[in-house]
Amino acid sequence: MRAPLIAGNWKMNGSLELVATFAEELSQTALPDGVDAALMVPFPYLGIARSRLPEAISIGAQTLSDQPSGAFTGEVSGTMLNDLGVQMVLVGHSERRTLFGEDDSAVLARVQAALEAGLVPVLCLGETLEERDAERTEAVVLGQLDAVLDALSADQRQRLVLAYEPVWAIGTGRTATPEQAQQVHAAIRARLASYDSQLAETMKVLYGGSMKPSNAAELLAQPDIDGGLIGGASLQVDDFLAICQSA
Ligand code: PEP
Repeated sequence: MRAPLIAGNWKMNGSLELVATFAEELSQTALPDGVDAALMVPFPYLGIARSRLPEAISIGAQTLSDQPSGAFTGEVSGTMLNDLGVQMVLVGHSERRTLFGEDDSAVLARVQAALEAGLVPVLCLGETLEERDAERTEAVVLGQLDAVLDALSADQRQRLVLAYEPVWAIGTGRTATPEQAQQVHAAIRARLASYDSQLAETMKVLYGGSMKPSNAAELLAQPDIDGGLIGGASLQVDDFLAICQSA
């Protein structure tokens, strides 16, 4: 019903050589049937990644400007990404929220810019350890979700992918247990149903946070987890492929 999506987020890592390695390996190894895959690479590698990687792998950026064009030195617009054949873009990754001060309204503006440019926004949601310890996980995650969904039309909502990424599990080696992750995914799905039952059926909700070949299968087996957003482990093509195989 919802094809699993395995999306790699290289963050500010990688090189032309790594793009070439992925291009070579991924053109020799078919993805498992029914599994979608994507790679979110740094801006300078987007064009070459799109031209060298198999069409079956979607290419994504890691952020975009909230503006369509103009005097915004250093920024990259959704239209430019679309020009390169980029299909997806991460929005609201916790590193953007915390290190670059992107609050819910900045995240919404970027989701709208992505939709305007014909890109699929992968909207990231997640609580910090303090918020989890204070038993505020669902309030925080669903608040981040509502801040975007409330401002979109029903058609726009359907074009999103969500990624639940507990901040305390990103890059820390500490993964949410499958039960912890499933609990939050189920709460997200229930909130989607309150907008539209069809939306809850069709929207992919990925899990992210130290997912790797050794823990992917049990996370991906949870009924409301529709794939993974993979940071560190997506820099090794064998690990990335192993996670695709577990989906
Ligand atoms: C991420 O950056 O989205 C992520 C989940 O990173 P890691 O897999 O390294 O925790």
